[in-house]
Amino acid sequence: MTNNIQPSPSSQEVPHIIIAGGGITGLAAAYYLEKRVKSKGTSLRYTLLEKSDELGGKIVTEKQDGYLIDGGPDSFITRKPWGVSLCRDLGLEDELIGTNDELRNIFVLSDGKLKPMPEGLMLVVPTRFLPFATSSLISIPGKLRMGMEPFIPPRIEDGDETLASFIRRRLGEEALKKLAAPLLSGIYVSDPERLSLKSSFPRLLELEREYGSLTKGMIAARRKAAAWRKEHGKSSLSMFVTLRKGMEQLVHALEGHLDSSSVQTGLRVTSVTSEEENGPPYLVKIEGGQTLRADAVILSTPARVSSHLLEDLDPQLSQQLDEIRFTSTAVVTLGYPPQNGMPALDGFGFLVPETENRHINACTWTSTKFDHRSPDSHKLIRCFLGGPGKEELVDWDDQTMINTVRRELNEIMSFQAQPEMTRIYRWHKAHPQYDLGHMDREEKIRQRADTHQGLALAGSSYDGVGIPDCIRQAEEAVESLGFPENK
Ligand SMILES: Cc1cc2nc3c(=O)[nH]c(=O)nc-3n(C[C@H](O)[C@H](O)[C@H](O)COP(=O)(O)OP(=O)(O)OC[C@H]3O[C@@H](n4cnc5c(N)ncnc54)[C@H](O)[C@@H]3O)c2cc1C
Repeated sequence: MTNNIQPSPSSQEVPHIIIAGGGITGLAAAYYLEKRVKSKGTSLRYTLLEKSDELGGKIVTEKQDGYLIDGGPDSFITRKPWGVSLCRDLGLEDELIGTNDELRNIFVLSDGKLKPMPEGLMLVVPTRFLPFATSSLISIPGKLRMGMEPFIPPRIEDGDETLASFIRRRLGEEALKKLAAPLLSGIYVSDPERLSLKSSFPRLLELEREYGSLTKGMIAARRKAAAWRKEHGKSSLSMFVTLRKGMEQLVHALEGHLDSSSVQTGLRVTSVTSEEENGPPYLVKIEGGQTLRADAVILSTPARVSSHLLEDLDPQLSQQLDEIRFTSTAVVTLGYPPQNGMPALDGFGFLVPETENRHINACTWTSTKFDHRSPDSHKLIRCFLGGPGKEELVDWDDQTMINTVRRELNEIMSFQAQPEMTRIYRWHKAHPQYDLGHMDREEKIRQRADTHQGLALAGSSYDGVGIPDCIRQAEEAVESLGFPENK
């Protein structure tokens, strides 16, 4: 894209960029704009507009009764380097803490009982024979079907496929229901029958193409990783990391690095229009009547919001953005003091397949997974509810939600301990759905957005829902504006 931004003819000043949305994507975009000014001497100014009074969007950390509670994301993956790299840039490297991997058991509810996932499972692919063969989670016919995977020919057609169709085809129905649906589509809070494989787990597709089999591909990947570790030593970072003071520490660090006069909270953008047909100057309207002029605009708001904002500028783009669906969830967090009958929580938590007919979709044993989350010997648990087909639960009143969670925890984990702290976070229309064909949809959106010089879209609605992907998209959005090199 050659969208070089220039000061609009009417503006005597340096180019002005507006970022709408102060979640991790918008904050990272502001950070990379400032970094550009400092490192390359690019002349520009920017204004970040956030509708709420707090920055961070879905990243929320609260302290209550000595517990450290993340209401949205609680960690991020290190294999995608952009999260760790930003933390290093911000001086947060020593604040990153990994999961307590010596206790990395994950359980799956199966016929009402918690059963451990077999060791050696990579994504959902067994790579070690013995733990898989002796696992009580998968039935003998289910194991035989999964064991046939290396002999299933790869798919010839090139088009997108749903996660459900892919897993069913390669590993069978039981692997889909007990492993892939709760574990993989759980990450995307999506229905596996609709979730695009290309947009969610392209690695699985690559393994099938490269090795003709997931099992062969994963075993090769495991060997390569072992050889790498032998040569370079074990990585000091675990697969997932968080921050000592909770995920909001990242937001505060970004805030601390940004020019405070450029960051405005409590200001909702209501529309983006343009004086020219396909480009700047853009007119960014704010609730209450104010209008700001901008030479470029980065929209890091969810696609459904960006769709509204662009209704007048480009009805076609607005319509394309509106096609991305969203779902809602709730996170219920409970804190327990030491007491009789409280289980040890030896693991990271459990997943609940749809077939178990529960309200809880998944449960993280946070105080085991990470240090510094609860007072000594107290336990912190977080349960996820809602999502596709269960969205109405999110609007249940607090007491009903807590009673339901406590009843199900009692039935699943056999404990009736009384929590001393409860906290509910409701996430309305917060999870973008990467439905079948998402990548094509996203490509069309990008092509259409590119017809507007200096307009960029970034964030979890498009190309990765995790925090590292949001950070990467922010950096790409900044670079896509195509700044003139300083002479
Ligand atoms: C419950 C939950 C758990 C999650 N767990 C993880 C996890 O463990 N690891 C992980 O990597 N990811 C996780 N995610 C996903 C991750 O948190 C999000 O994808 C990411 O934070 C999205 O960042 P964003 O900046 O793109 O969007 P948002 O955080 O949604 O930010 C968008 C911002 O735009 C603002 N805004 C909206 N409309 C306007 C307007 N008109 N004008 C101005 N501002 C506006 C909003 O107030 C918001 O601050 C989780 C998400 C949820 C909800």
